[in-house]
Parts: sequence; C-alpha cells; structure tokens
Amino acid sequence: MFRSVNPATGAEIATYPELTPAELDAKLARAAAAFRHWRTTPLEERTALLARIADRFEVERERLARMASLEMGKTLATALAEVDKCAAGFRVYAEHGPAMLAPKRQSLTGGGTAELHWLPIGPVLAIMPWNFPYWQAVRFLAPAIMAGNVGLLKHASIVQGVAGLLEEMVTAAGAPDGLFQNLAIKSSAVAGVIADDRIAAVTLTGSEAAGASVAEAAGRALKKVVLELGGSDPFIVMPSADLDAAVAQAVKARIQNSGQSCICAKRMIVHADVYDAFMARFSDGMRAVKAGDPFDPAIDMGPLSSFEQRDTVLEQLEEAKSLGATLLFGGEPTADGAYLSAGILTDVPLDSPLMHEEIFGPIAMVFRAADIDEAIRIANDIPFGLGSSVWTRDEGEQRRFVRDIEAGMTAINQMLASSPEAPFGGIKRSGHGRELGPYGMHEFMNLKTVMYA
Ligand code: NAP
Repeated sequence: MFRSVNPATGAEIATYPELTPAELDAKLARAAAAFRHWRTTPLEERTALLARIADRFEVERERLARMASLEMGKTLATALAEVDKCAAGFRVYAEHGPAMLAPKRQSLTGGGTAELHWLPIGPVLAIMPWNFPYWQAVRFLAPAIMAGNVGLLKHASIVQGVAGLLEEMVTAAGAPDGLFQNLAIKSSAVAGVIADDRIAAVTLTGSEAAGASVAEAAGRALKKVVLELGGSDPFIVMPSADLDAAVAQAVKARIQNSGQSCICAKRMIVHADVYDAFMARFSDGMRAVKAGDPFDPAIDMGPLSSFEQRDTVLEQLEEAKSLGATLLFGGEPTADGAYLSAGILTDVPLDSPLMHEEIFGPIAMVFRAADIDEAIRIANDIPFGLGSSVWTRDEGEQRRFVRDIEAGMTAINQMLASSPEAPFGGIKRSGHGRELGPYGMHEFMNLKTVMYA
C-alpha cells in the first residue's frame, strides 16, 4: 500500500495498492510484447505519438500540476512550469529525434565502409524521485519512445498519484498497449525486476544509496545502467561578477523547489573582495523568502516534500552546529506542515562530514575564497560532481572554471537549469551517463556497426 500525504497539511490524499507478483509479471509481459511491435515502427509514427502526448500535457496541465503540488508541496506556479517543460521536451524529441537516429557512414582504412545504425534495445526500467515528479520521468520517457524502446516506471512512493497520471497521459495519447506502464512497487522489488530477462536496462535518478543498490543489481544482471544522483553544487562569485544578478540568482537557485533540486546551488563560494557585499545582499534575499501554501501565488516556496525530509534537514543542521558551523538564521520549522524557513550556514569546516552530504532543503552554505585557486579547490572538495554555476566577466577565469571544476555541467553567469537539448548528468558520486539531447537517447540504444565491402 502507498499513502500520499499532503506535506502542507499532513492530511492523507489517497492510498494506492501495490502490484501483486502476478500483476507485475503481467506488466512485464505486456512490455515485452509492446517492444516486439514498437521497435519496428516508422519514425513518423513515433514522432506523431510524442506530439500527441505533448498535447495531452498541455490540455491537462492544471490537473497534472495540482497533483504534484498536493503530493510533494511544490508551488502551483512551478508545477505548471514543470508540466509545460514536459510538453516542450516531448516536442523537442518529436522534432529533432529522427535526425538523432540518422545512420552515419564512414570509410575504413583497410577498404570498404562502415555504416552506424542506432537500434532500440528493449524495455527500460526507470526509477525516479519525487522532486520533479513529471520532468524526471519525461526526460527518460520521451527519448525512450523516440528510440523505439519501451518504458516502465518505478516512481517514488510518495508520488503515486503523479505516476498514475503519467501513464494516463501516454495511454490517452493513443500509445500502443504496454508502451509505457507505471509499476506500483516498493524499492525492495526493484532488484527482481532488473534481473528479469524481459528488462534490457535501467536508469535511476535518486540518492547515492539507491544508486549503489540499483547499480549492484544491474551489475549482477550485466545490464546497462545510467545513474543521476545527488549533488552539492558550487555557485562561485568572482569580483568581476554582476553582483545584483548573482545575488538574485543565488537566492532563486538555492530555494527553488524548497531547496530540493539535485542542481540547486548548495554552496556559495565567494571571492574575498566581494564577500561582504555579497553576504549583505544574499542574507537580505534569503530572509525575505516567503514559505507558505503552495497554491498561494504570493509565496516563494512551499513545504518540503514530506515531514521525514524536513526532519533529515533539521538533523543535518544540528550536525553542522555541533561541528562548529554557524547557522546565521533560518532552518526553523514554521506552521503545521513540513515547512522550513530559508537559512544560511557559514564556518562549515572543509574537512567535516557535512561536506560529503547533500542538504536537500533551503539552507545555503557560504564560503570565502582568497582567489580563484582556492575557489576551485573548495568547489572540488566534495565527493559529488553534478553541476556548477560561476559568476565572472573575465574570460580567462571562465576558461579556468570550465577546465578545472569537477562537474558534468557548468553554467556561466546564470543559474544552472536543465534543457531538453542539453546533455544532463554528473561525474564522481553524482553518477554516470547522460540524459537528454542525443546523448541521453543513445545511452539506451545499440549502436550497430554494419560493414560493407
Ligand atoms: P531516493 O530515496 O534515492 O529515491 C529515488 C527513487 O529510488 C525512488 O523511486 C525510490 O523509491 C527508489 N529507491 C530508493 N532506494 C532504493 C533501492 N535501494 N533500490 C531501488 N530503488 C530505490 O531519492 P529521493 O529522496 O526520492 O530523491 C532525492 C535524491 O535524488 C537527491 O539525492 C537528489 O539529488 C537526487 N536527484 C538527482 C537528480 C539528477 O539528475 N542527478 C535529479 C533529481 C534528484 P521509494 O520512494 O519507494 O523509496
């Protein structure tokens, strides 16, 4: 049984039954049957379906967005933006997908030519988190459909309403039976699904612990796995930065989704020459953040996704203080829901265990750096390597950051956000592989080399 609880009130929204082993088996059989048909469909049939799914998201945007706000607390405005981004994501693959699948020819030094074909591989299991409950699933699903693969979703337990709506949208768009199915299963059942011969590969977006467990199961079954895991992204501000823009984006980047984004800026690393000016304005900005009812258009952020998530952040703050860090303000539970006020931590020791953790809540850590070398050293002094944002108008410094920051993504003079066309993913303990763009689609395809004399 799954229970959806509104984190703004603590009230139960709905319960959802878990699949029985026989129901799960039947869904895997449907997925395998769907693949036998879908793998040979003309590309125009796939692009037409993607466009119809985009239409469904647009028509149903209010209903979809409301479910996300109710189940995990994001503001209705950001939930609507997320649904719109999903529609755009489906359209990007509908428009550009065929070109990404075009075969390429190359002549061979020994004579003859090789032709490279992208072929689908089969049903792919996607294990997804609650934080962007539509977008995380869509950025796997849109390329999977375009590739000729079949999708199975094991969504986070707390967003089973969203999971059901995702399947409903695809079905309502006229997808063939079994092309995309929601599996209402607990994480304890995932290893068994990965081991099943009808599953070709697996992708997970989530925590390090879940990533390690899924990679272990995929390794045992010798199946491809893509891992999009946590991050503690640096946001570096250098003296030549436009400070007003940097401060405004630092606040936005830290509190987006109530601080629960893998690519939220979590560590502000500020050059000593502008540290005091940045801190004065950043503190004002963070103090002004209004948390409240996600359906109130005047608020900046809703509650955290669950009471458990809020308690995890509260425990991290206690840990930080015990290690010598200073909580300047914030980090306080407010109202009855899973709310937490935005706050700032300073003096976090660089050798403390906190540097190895991800704070998934609206709390910024701020560090002072004497120069660019120290800024890069602090930025890299973590086990993660997901995203980064650097603020400088100096082109030499920009090149240094691009070359030396250990991350899968670096945004220059802007906060980092995903885009359907841009590859997304990390290095180190943030995972491996990429989603989105042609690279994301190719992760789950067979690049067949065809040799001609
Ligand atoms: P989580 O606890 O790891 O859960 C993610 C998904 O994995 C859920 O569907 C969960 O199911 C499942 N899961 C958990 N443990 C599992 C296991 N041992 N075996 C198989 N499946 C398992 O993460 P979360 O708290 O929902 O999400 C937050 C995390 O995701 C953060 O670390 C965040 O940085 C990361 N994230 C990364 C990206 C990225 O692109 N790199 C994007 C967004 C979020 P249940 O809900 O049933 O436990």
